[in-house]
Amino acid sequence: MTQVPRPNSAAARDVRSQLHPYTNPLALEADGPVIVTRGDGVWVEDEAGERYIEGLAGLWCTALGFSAEERLARAAYDQMRALSFYHPFGQKAHVPGIDLAEKLLAMAPVPMSKVLFSTSGSEANDTAIKLIRFYNNALGRPEKKKIISRIKGYHGVTLATASLTGLPNNHRDFDLPLPGILHTTCPHHYHGAVEGESPEAFATRCAEDLDALIEAEGPETVAAFFAEPVMGAGGVLVPPPTYFEKIQAVLKKHDVLLVADEVICGFGRTGNVWGSQTFGLQPDLLTCAKQLSSGYMPVSALMLSEAVYQPIRDNAGRIGILGHGYTYGGHPVACAVANEVLTIYEERELFAHAATVGPHMQARLRTLADHPLVDEVRGVGLIAGVEIARDKAKRQPFEPAQGVGAALGRHLHRRGVITRVIGDTIAFSPPLIITDEEVDAMVERVALALDDTLAWCRAEGLV
Ligand code: PMP
Repeated sequence: MTQVPRPNSAAARDVRSQLHPYTNPLALEADGPVIVTRGDGVWVEDEAGERYIEGLAGLWCTALGFSAEERLARAAYDQMRALSFYHPFGQKAHVPGIDLAEKLLAMAPVPMSKVLFSTSGSEANDTAIKLIRFYNNALGRPEKKKIISRIKGYHGVTLATASLTGLPNNHRDFDLPLPGILHTTCPHHYHGAVEGESPEAFATRCAEDLDALIEAEGPETVAAFFAEPVMGAGGVLVPPPTYFEKIQAVLKKHDVLLVADEVICGFGRTGNVWGSQTFGLQPDLLTCAKQLSSGYMPVSALMLSEAVYQPIRDNAGRIGILGHGYTYGGHPVACAVANEVLTIYEERELFAHAATVGPHMQARLRTLADHPLVDEVRGVGLIAGVEIARDKAKRQPFEPAQGVGAALGRHLHRRGVITRVIGDTIAFSPPLIITDEEVDAMVERVALALDDTLAWCRAEGLV
């Protein structure tokens, strides 16, 4: 980074050949990429031999970190040799898929009836949207189709799931959102509450906003509400106490399905197996991905309750087929690896470990609240956000054009921490294997990067 790539280096070849997601192409052309070559534990190394603590578990997914896990390599190897590809289309099945479906149903936070696999979080959520349409058509209420998510929610990047995602960069110049997808209030008390409004009162107002939106649209036209227990890519936003209780009362009143997007929160991230358990969600549908395979293989899952499954079953039975499915959904190699990942989680008691290291990380990050730049520290379990501001007392953020978020990202990188700065918030979601000592090392490096950023802001005349 920050060096013009040498002509035939991997960096130069990359710039010539790849269009990068979530990247500024001009910065990429100027500086080249950071080429990550290896990893072990919570650490990764670039081609120059620099080592970094991976504070975001890659893309919130590598619960087991980056080590060579021989058992997972073996699970993939054995499955490729036994049966390299099969699928559940046309009344076929394979055992790794059956095993994984059973495991997920046994782990589910509320009774679930069926599992449908795909390969990414976006596909799982897209599938949920389609099946909710199919479900309401099956029930003879074709007008009940609108879907509501939250401003700053993240649910993926397909046309439909990018529409659900409530972030401007996912809509702007993509001609999104699609019609019939609506957004309601973001439950972030810190920025959303009015002067003197308690978190509980703010939660009530969020639920009232949802109720008003459903009433305005007509409850007979609203099918489902999508929510992440903790909003991740929108800036690690933790809902205020009583929020989901009040939201669910509104959904029940209007016969609107709840979809829990557990793509980040699932598998131990928030201190329980599911974020739904931490925040009291009782979803009708649930999507998960990422830590389902610890990022070793692309695999995701959608779970359906029996009440959602039944009409879909009857209708597909009448039509003759359920006209949906991805070639690589529930790939046997991915399922075999995910099965082994879940076994490793259990054997190493990883969720219990995460539930003890989580509070330590939260406490250590909260010590940063004294830093002149740090405004709010929030999070639960092993997911957290540290938000900076130009003026803490007035909760006044920096202007995006001042580039402070990007500068903070550069300083974190120089201090050996890889994470993501979302607007003014540093996101943390380290591998669940992280130890107290590694948390301490990460937070010390973050403190230094904050000092560097403050010095830079002063030099630029921004504070
Ligand atoms: N839902 C949530 C909550 C996510 O965080 C993400 C990805 N960050 C997705 C869905 C989309 O997953 P994918 O990138 O695998 O399509």
